[in-house]
Amino acid sequence: SNRITLGPLVAAIDQGTSSTRFLVFNAKTAELLSHHQVEIKQSFPKEGWVEEDPKEILQSVYECMDRTCEKLTQLNIDISNIKAIGVTNQRETTLVWDKETGEPLYNAIVWLDLRTQSTVERLINKTPGKNKNHLKHKTGLPISTYFSAVKLRWLMDNVEKVHEAVLSHRAMFGTVDSWLIWCLTGGKKGGVHCTDVTNASRTMLFNIHTMDWDPELCKYFDIPMEILPKVRSSSEIYGLMKSGPLTGVPISGCLGDQSAALVGQMCFKDGQAKNTYGTGCFLLKNVGTKPVMSDHGLLTTVAYKLGRDKPACYALEGSVAIAGAVVRWLKDNLGIIQTSTELEKLAADVGTSYGCYFVPAFSGLYAPYWEPSARGIICGLTQFTNRSHLAFAALEAVCFQTREILDAMNQDSCIHLSQLQVDGGMTSNRLLMQLQADILCIPVVKPSMPETTALGAAMAAGAAEGVSVWSLNPEDLTEVTSEKFEPQINPEESELRYARWKKAVQRAMNWET
Ligand code: ADP
Repeated sequence: SNRITLGPLVAAIDQGTSSTRFLVFNAKTAELLSHHQVEIKQSFPKEGWVEEDPKEILQSVYECMDRTCEKLTQLNIDISNIKAIGVTNQRETTLVWDKETGEPLYNAIVWLDLRTQSTVERLINKTPGKNKNHLKHKTGLPISTYFSAVKLRWLMDNVEKVHEAVLSHRAMFGTVDSWLIWCLTGGKKGGVHCTDVTNASRTMLFNIHTMDWDPELCKYFDIPMEILPKVRSSSEIYGLMKSGPLTGVPISGCLGDQSAALVGQMCFKDGQAKNTYGTGCFLLKNVGTKPVMSDHGLLTTVAYKLGRDKPACYALEGSVAIAGAVVRWLKDNLGIIQTSTELEKLAADVGTSYGCYFVPAFSGLYAPYWEPSARGIICGLTQFTNRSHLAFAALEAVCFQTREILDAMNQDSCIHLSQLQVDGGMTSNRLLMQLQADILCIPVVKPSMPETTALGAAMAAGAAEGVSVWSLNPEDLTEVTSEKFEPQINPEESELRYARWKKAVQRAMNWET
């Protein structure tokens, strides 16, 4: 057959909140050669609860790998050229499984889940000064429902099977990266139980200064350290694929999705930032090799550590819980659109929210407020308001939330961003991108290859010692082509709308207290 010779290829598993993807890149040009995507079901067993099935997540990975390999073969591309696989994943989502049977002991508790609100209250009440930032000096994070430690605490307190497995030393804890790497490298027959520093930094059990699990943090949450995965760098060989068409290929990259996007957007310099618009919205700014603590509600997190002997880089992060999720809500709960792509046309029909403001605080508010008791609100309705205005207000909400984070970031450091690099599923919405430039009053720059998260994981995998088919030398990296959205409205109008948004946010706060 006429096999095409391309040189080495590198793959990425991108396990997101709403879907799983497998993607294969040319290691020389960073060109995306083929991919496959499978949606992931979410269940909402009670108000505020969000779960996913760990086995479905794993199956979706196998399915995406198989289908992508088939597509490559159809393109006459030899899959034996795939030299490494990187993993990137939804962060914080928490799993516990039995290492002897390989069975998950409960569904995965998704990062957005709010069931731990009372666990968080109990912990804060026993904390000196009832200070939610009590662990921030070690973790970079406030005590909140968001991070894995409280989810794990809830599982140990409320799920008998988990409790028993912990007592009988059969329990393994992990975020999605750990679960996948353990399963793919052999599972109960010798699978590797590990995570990388970026995922570990979102658990609240990890000390971002010592770069290891912290006995005091584990004691605070009363979590036995033996159930934790081994912490590794983001770029090294963790193990080899044990089954499927890619058997024997090393898994050699691992980054939480937001870190992967930072790498994929080539934000390797101090001060460079990117915003990813997926289920939530995450703005990360590289702050270099020393952690910077925020005074304005931002998180300090490990950005990446690209090799065992390489230094760790840190980031300031602003997280918004609900971005694309509001689109899904308009589709699934209100039924005003059939598909996410319809939203753009609906909103464009009117081109204004007509004074309607929509604060989608479905799971409280994350940065910069960290207010778990906030709830969603739609205000400024008149007789004239219709579903198009509501659609527009939903898109604006994503932009205003990003503006709040950018403002916080600018307050925390004197270097102001002159433009914003963006990616994620929602950036295919051009109206959203234009609105974002208008509301930030700076240009928004979108790479033409949108899969930057997967690219980042693939780069980390390809650059690992023992693989080394990808150089992470900034000079060697391919220039990415991109599209730029310039601000088009005048700044006064932008400020006026933003001020109204802030008023609406105040009304959404403290709803449940
Ligand atoms: P994740 O990584 O969190 O799974 P993705 O980056 O895949 O998310 O983005 C999916 C999200 O983007 C979904 O919540 C979906 O509602 C939203 N989305 C996708 N396309 C559009 C669009 N054209 N307009 C608005 N929202 C969109």
